[in-house]
Amino acid sequence: MLNKADFVVVGGGCIGASVAYYLAKRKAGSVLLLERNEFLGQESTGKCAGGIRAQFSTEINARLSLLSIDAFERWEQEIQEPFQYRQWGYCFLLTSDELVKNFRKSHALWTRLGMKVDWLEPAQVEKRLPYVNMEGVRGATFHARDGFGDPNDITQGYAKAARRLGARIETGVAVSGWRRDKLNRAITHVITDKGEIEAGRVILATGAWTRPLAAKAGVDVPIDPIARQIIVTDKFDDIEDPFPMTVDLSTTLYFHRESGGVLIGMSDHSVGAGFETTFNEDFGEKMLVTAMERAPVLANASPKHKWCGLYEVTPDHHPVLDRLAPLDNLYCCAGFSGHGLMHAPAAGLLTAELVLDGKARSLDISQLALGRFADPGRLHDEANVI
Ligand SMILES: Cc1cc2nc3c(=O)[nH]c(=O)nc-3n(C[C@H](O)[C@H](O)[C@H](O)COP(=O)(O)OP(=O)(O)OC[C@H]3O[C@@H](n4cnc5c(N)ncnc54)[C@H](O)[C@@H]3O)c2cc1C
Repeated sequence: MLNKADFVVVGGGCIGASVAYYLAKRKAGSVLLLERNEFLGQESTGKCAGGIRAQFSTEINARLSLLSIDAFERWEQEIQEPFQYRQWGYCFLLTSDELVKNFRKSHALWTRLGMKVDWLEPAQVEKRLPYVNMEGVRGATFHARDGFGDPNDITQGYAKAARRLGARIETGVAVSGWRRDKLNRAITHVITDKGEIEAGRVILATGAWTRPLAAKAGVDVPIDPIARQIIVTDKFDDIEDPFPMTVDLSTTLYFHRESGGVLIGMSDHSVGAGFETTFNEDFGEKMLVTAMERAPVLANASPKHKWCGLYEVTPDHHPVLDRLAPLDNLYCCAGFSGHGLMHAPAAGLLTAELVLDGKARSLDISQLALGRFADPGRLHDEANVI
């Protein structure tokens, strides 16, 4: 293993792979990515639903998505690796006056950002989504550039492209702490279970595990792990392709096509912070019942796979993309709060700019600074969280 690198990226999920790629692309020095597991992308990234959408309630989240969707649309040309990407749209079903009001406001934001989002009245929803039980549905929004993509393709694609540009990727290496200089202003060495690595700059891309690792450098980064479940059915053809990712925000139910079957997700809001990821069968039952209520045809589908993974949640459901003061050379790119896959391209690009230029240039990311948590007045919560 290398014992020295200009840039050490810790964490080999979609975010770390993207950061390594964008740093390597700038040719500013040696890049080393460390992942404790045997393979990349086995944690939150490998457990995720693959959804990619720009329909967010805050401008910064929508802009992170638009930057990322641009990158996904030119993926094969730029990354030169395969990418299963289906832009079949996202349809948000609106089942209360409050949701209609909030989405009307968001719709104005999206229009200002140049997004073409259809506003559907109930009759149009019924026609476009014949599989939906219309009970309570007062309208819906549909954005054709939204969709879903393969998390493994994204992680492997960035990792392979980063390697081609000279980055080194070491798996099976767990970071356990830091060695700091005498003034406590900089990380000098990354301590791992395979030895110490002298580091110029260090980027934490450790998702749900960021808080304990940052704490070892004396910085509190409020990212909490929250368990979320998924069920994938056996082959299922009763809903005609292409059908959009369909989301019922009132229950947080969502479903889309997956490997010939249907992927069903829903959030259990009674779950608190913790690293436990045993699949909760009772809640799994509730997910299926809710899915059959909203799309009765799903009663014909048989569950085949199920799993539980971790969201990496901040108090306002936005990531932390910042240098971790008072340290001069420790950065954080984590806490995407359940939207990290879709934001991976923007995350890597902006982090490389922050680290190399001292400031992100492609987007104003001041709202993603760690300091916002010290001033609750600066927090703008993302409402469209599922
Ligand atoms: C059920 C579910 C559904 C989801 N659906 C979506 C979706 O539809 N769309 C979307 O955009 N997002 C979705 N997400 C969220 C998405 O998966 C995450 O936001 C994203 O994967 C975060 O990527 P990451 O690279 O930051 O984290 P991870 O993929 O968790 O990667 C972090 C890596 O850091 C490594 N690591 C941690 N500590 C250390 C250490 N000390 N030393 C070395 N390595 C370390 C870990 O092993 C891990 O591989 C979903 C998540 C879940 C659980």
